[in-house]
Amino acid sequence: MLCPKDRETELEQQTIDDNLTVFHCRQCQGTWLEAENYQEWQKTGGDKLPNVDVLGPVLDPDFEASLEDVQASLCPGCKHYLSRSRIGFGQSFFLERCKNCGGFWCDRGEWELLTKLGFHTNLEYLFTPEWQDAVRRREQHLTERRVLIEKVGEELANQVFEMAAKLESNPNGDFAVAYLMRRFDGD
Ligand SMILES: [Zn+2]
Ligand SMILES: [Zn+2]
Repeated sequence: MLCPKDRETELEQQTIDDNLTVFHCRQCQGTWLEAENYQEWQKTGGDKLPNVDVLGPVLDPDFEASLEDVQASLCPGCKHYLSRSRIGFGQSFFLERCKNCGGFWCDRGEWELLTKLGFHTNLEYLFTPEWQDAVRRREQHLTERRVLIEKVGEELANQVFEMAAKLESNPNGDFAVAYLMRRFDGD
């Protein structure tokens, strides 16, 4: 099996994370996960769903996307085009998957980052519209917070965040929200 990026380096079989069989490219340091091996490994580790809340303004300050990350490529197994899913925001990182055979391609450093984020246990989920929506909402949420901090200062903004969390968990929180809105309505 050849590297999907340079199409000439032979991938070498390796075992990572105790019992996950992968195919590694020593040239670009990318990793191919065959569907069967990955699913086998998932069974042993539990396929916990990725949690979008771990996403911050940047994915990981230490992460530098591989140059190969932007390059479209073909599945090393069955030669279908690999589809891409953007992971997180703030930094460019695309995970690739073959829709035909179900394999995944991680460029250099991507598997390690997915592991760090706890996203490695269910890579399929990262390709669902549900996940993409959750990422968009998370990004919006962080932007909103940043704007509020800019507008009213960190101290007051933090009080507002704290208050919002309290009201969210109070069954009558919406009364308090309505009160605040009236206070600022048509002054
Ligand atoms: Zn390679
Ligand atoms: Zn394939």
